[in-house]
Amino acid sequence: MNITSKLPNVGTTIFIVMSALAKEHHAINLSQGFPNYPSSQKLNDLVTNAMNNGYNQYAPMAGNLDLRLAIAHKYQLLYKSTYHPEKEITVTAGATQAIYTIISAFIRRNDEVIMFKPAYDCYEPAVEINGGKTIPVQLSAPNYKVNWDKVASKISSQTKMIIINSPHNPSGTIWSKDDMLQLQKLTRNTDIIILSDEVYEHIVFDDAQHQSACLFEDLKQRSFICASFGKTFHNTGWKIGYCCATEALMVEFRKVHQFNVFSVHHPSQKGIADYMQDPETYLGLNTFFQRKRDLFLSLISESRFKFQPSQGTYFQVLDYSEITDESDVDFAKRLTVDFKLASIPLSVFNTNNQDDKVLRFCFAKTDETLVKAAEILSKI
Ligand code: PMP
Ligand code: GLN
Repeated sequence: MNITSKLPNVGTTIFIVMSALAKEHHAINLSQGFPNYPSSQKLNDLVTNAMNNGYNQYAPMAGNLDLRLAIAHKYQLLYKSTYHPEKEITVTAGATQAIYTIISAFIRRNDEVIMFKPAYDCYEPAVEINGGKTIPVQLSAPNYKVNWDKVASKISSQTKMIIINSPHNPSGTIWSKDDMLQLQKLTRNTDIIILSDEVYEHIVFDDAQHQSACLFEDLKQRSFICASFGKTFHNTGWKIGYCCATEALMVEFRKVHQFNVFSVHHPSQKGIADYMQDPETYLGLNTFFQRKRDLFLSLISESRFKFQPSQGTYFQVLDYSEITDESDVDFAKRLTVDFKLASIPLSVFNTNNQDDKVLRFCFAKTDETLVKAAEILSKI
């Protein structure tokens, strides 16, 4: 039988590769982004209560209404932005499914999708499988600043979508208000859809403000905002997220969503809705992770790694160029096998695997794990 792959260039993700290598070599795993401490007991209890109180059959296609009300309330509280809970918010099986469904709902053959590299790995295959073309804008370490003239030069009559991601995985940088205004100016009076991946919206440091696409009225009209409760509530394995958009965009999204997953694990949705009644459950995240970032960075301050402190996300990028000129993939593997510490090489997310000699380390870990990891990094 002949199988012609629709994704001939796609292999196993770097997250799976590095986590497997970490396991094989009993290394500390700061590669794939997930916490190694428990999800909140109160939240677990609320999900259990939901299971014991009848939330065991299909949720409405767009999501449990209490959860959509809680999400709408959050946008009002944080951004003074209104999303109609019934028409403009849909709960998804993680942000990944929201992203895939948005791209599937809008991208046709030869449509162009602009994205910024390094880019999170699920964007490009989703574009490709739908026949679209990725138009990359490569950014570089250490600041990953966007040159907006360069972006303008990439926009064509075929541009259907621009994918943005702030706070940014993998670099840990955030976009400024000015970046968002530039994007708004470039897309005004066009039919370009913005996919704004905001899964780390609650993890922003040093009193900076998250610049959500919903804060910019013209951008809001053309944007899907994607979010992930896995990031916010320390339970990446639950795979619950959501997206928000105007009603006209959401109608098209739901046409695909209803045949893609139809609806998402119901008791988790109800439990999260109840948990979110207290906004501190998500507002406290900045402080929680900033303390972990500062601990990690203070412990490696004497090492030979160079860094700019992460501005957001739970990832810290470290520059190892003073240590070796090995490729980042080779060095990440050697660190795992010989030094028992796993990380993610950034080149895999870049155009032509541009290698800036940087590795990404996840600091959503217990202090004890961060101390052990820092001891290793300080010895190299
Ligand atoms: N976007 C980014 C930038 C991410 O880092 C992740 C997961 N780490 C996702 C999307 C996917 O989120 P989820 O696990 O909710 O599917
Ligand atoms: N988002 C996680 C990270 O950036 C990885 C999730 C996955 O393995 N697909 O580490």
